[in-house]
Amino acid sequence: MPRTIKNWSRLQRFTPRNYAEPATVDQVVAAVNTARGRSERIRVAGNLHSFSEIVRTDDTLISLKAMNGLIDADVESGLVRVRAGTSIHQLSRQLDALGLALPNLGDIDVQSIAGAAATGTHGTGENYGNISAQIRAVQLVTAAGEVVEIDEDDPSALKAARVSLGTLGVITALTLQCVPAFRLDRLDLPRPVNETLSQIDDLAANFDHYEFYVLPYSDLALQKRINRTDAAAEPMPAVKRFANDVLAENVALGAIVNAGKVAPNAIPPLARTMAKFFSPARRLDKSFDAFSTVRMVRFNELEYAIPRQHLAEAVERVLAVIQEHQFPVNFPIEVRVGQADDASLLSTAAGRDTGYISVHTFKGMEYEPYFHAVETIMDGYEGRPHWGKMNWQTADRLAGRYDGWNEFQLVRSEFDPEGAFTNDYIERILGPVVTSRIQ
Ligand SMILES: Cc1cc2nc3c(=O)[nH]c(=O)nc-3n(C[C@H](O)[C@H](O)[C@H](O)COP(=O)(O)OP(=O)(O)OC[C@H]3O[C@@H](n4cnc5c(N)ncnc54)[C@H](O)[C@@H]3O)c2cc1C
Repeated sequence: MPRTIKNWSRLQRFTPRNYAEPATVDQVVAAVNTARGRSERIRVAGNLHSFSEIVRTDDTLISLKAMNGLIDADVESGLVRVRAGTSIHQLSRQLDALGLALPNLGDIDVQSIAGAAATGTHGTGENYGNISAQIRAVQLVTAAGEVVEIDEDDPSALKAARVSLGTLGVITALTLQCVPAFRLDRLDLPRPVNETLSQIDDLAANFDHYEFYVLPYSDLALQKRINRTDAAAEPMPAVKRFANDVLAENVALGAIVNAGKVAPNAIPPLARTMAKFFSPARRLDKSFDAFSTVRMVRFNELEYAIPRQHLAEAVERVLAVIQEHQFPVNFPIEVRVGQADDASLLSTAAGRDTGYISVHTFKGMEYEPYFHAVETIMDGYEGRPHWGKMNWQTADRLAGRYDGWNEFQLVRSEFDPEGAFTNDYIERILGPVVTSRIQ
């Protein structure tokens, strides 16, 4: 019975000819061999939280959702081995029980660890890298059905495998470098947009994990000033947390974005109303609880990584283009920072301190004109799209934006010479596999 696959935002829907949900490495090998025996291409699914067509396939889809949980852990060194389909939510709790944590996370925790790493998923913090930077080894099933272990003995392959876009094979396990468990002291503070933009460098330097949201058509930004602390957590009771964080945020946002969908002209006054929901709040919580939020309002998203020094100017230009075209934008713009990443060839932060700008539109609302306009601005800064989010880039345009581009293509052609792990999206943004590079 064919199975229709939907991503989280519901924009991507497809029906692969064959669907496999292996529970063991041997079953992954069997699924790969079966697909290759039929000359089918393969894509791998984590938890389907990418917005782009990165997972889509008409041939074989292999989901890693049945392969989850810790395999082993060395608490002293902080090195843990984990099955690829483990969700960050599950992993964080299993690590916490051992007194460990991942040093930085994005703003949700439902992605699989392999899926998050594969697209360069990141949080914020000018001294912190993205999730893939913690990977020390990768177990992979290649298109030839071989199980290989990639580690520091082959630095080029490891740098490619950390952010692989699912193009090297099926990742079945990862070894991660964790840190001792820690808490976060998080202050959410509404401040004027102009002040927030002019203080961007100081604020990013003063807080371990600094970010802010700007709501177009309002004058307010919501800053998230987050520092790591040794203090004990003061967790809110679960019911209060649900009411405060989940219901208040999602219901208010849901009501306003729904109203904006029905009456786009009302968005500027609605935005000013919504800004009133930005209020100061303080939390002291376990790191993974403070990093992550629950997203109940579905949206589509485009995100660009640009050289950090242009961040404030680029945000100003995005706000200006929204005003100029009166785009009906009823979702905040999210602005984050990240450390230059030397661990992964295709990390969006590879080789440069990075500023991230994310723009969103409510599910079902037109996103193309707004996202295209933002993408044009980001092209001017040699912007790199988040691999898991919407974009209209091509390999020709992106190749020059990554020093490690050719090195990645070389590794790709060695692991997958026939292009088994591709789809139309991968061919558009990475190009076809170039086997002629092999000597
Ligand atoms: C509400 C929401 C909030 C988000 N917040 C953030 C954020 O804060 N920061 C950020 O950077 N991103 C964020 N994202 C994007 C998200 O983190 C990425 O798209 C991530 O890749 C999704 O993980 P997944 O497990 O759902 O993977 P999928 O979307 O299922 O797959 C993503 C990629 O990983 C590959 N893949 C998955 N598993 C394997 C495997 N075992 N072996 C080989 N390849 C594999 C797939 O082939 C595909 O190329 C958010 C997305 C949503 C919907």
